[in-house]
Amino acid sequence: MDMQIRALSKKNNVKISIVDITEGFNEIIKLQQTNHLASVALGRTIINNSLLSLSLKYVKKMTANINGMGLGGTIIAEFQDKNFRGYIQNPNFKIDKIEKENGTPLSQVVGKQGFLQVSRDNNEKQPYISRVELVSGEINLDFMYYLQKSDQIHSLISSTVKIDDNGMVEKACGIIIQMLPDFVEENIDFIEEKVGSLDHLVKTLIRTTNYEALIKDICEDAEVLNIGELKFKCTCNIKKVMDSIKMLGEEEIKKIIEEGEMVEVVCDFCKKKYNVKSEEIAK
Ligand SMILES: [Zn+2]
Repeated sequence: MDMQIRALSKKNNVKISIVDITEGFNEIIKLQQTNHLASVALGRTIINNSLLSLSLKYVKKMTANINGMGLGGTIIAEFQDKNFRGYIQNPNFKIDKIEKENGTPLSQVVGKQGFLQVSRDNNEKQPYISRVELVSGEINLDFMYYLQKSDQIHSLISSTVKIDDNGMVEKACGIIIQMLPDFVEENIDFIEEKVGSLDHLVKTLIRTTNYEALIKDICEDAEVLNIGELKFKCTCNIKKVMDSIKMLGEEEIKKIIEEGEMVEVVCDFCKKKYNVKSEEIAK
């Protein structure tokens, strides 16, 4: 079961959240037919986006959009009502396009010439959109940079996706550690000492599913605020499909109606096929 856990340490003025989406992300990579590098890029984006969403109050829908001109193309992750979904434009690019001298493989998949855009929908009319330049194309550092730019200078975010020899997801999980507004220097020193390097923390995360114990290892006094199930679920429906057909423009729609064609629309996220009759479009 995919899950999230959130905990608070009052003594150390810190909030810690962990998500594990191993099960649902396995479904996603089967649907998206990703190669192993695309799986890692997409997984990290979905996990970090979920962590960001869970770390904020009053977020109805959180969307992260990465476009760094890399081999994978655009990557989108969405989190809404404890459900996540994701999409990568080029899921199965040729691995031999990765060049050793051009930096890490992942940074070539994501690219560095572009932005990470985060959109927070709080049920107000306009979502709150902010974007930062990509700094590494490794996704984790890019989300960290996003946190810095959103005035959460002392927060840490990291995710990891482990793919086995058969291309299946062995583990897909991540952690966010946020200092509360009242924190003092001592709290930061304490966390830094406890956590050590982020790499080390993520390795620990891969090895366990006892996340409560892991959190208590960092902060003994931490109280669990919430443990809950997360799910991969697509939010596509026929209304959204009709809206996307409307976007084709008057000319194109007229042509479809005149020719009496059936329009097939495939959801980018779950690959579900919607067949819409031209009479329905005419209505
Ligand atoms: Zn869908």
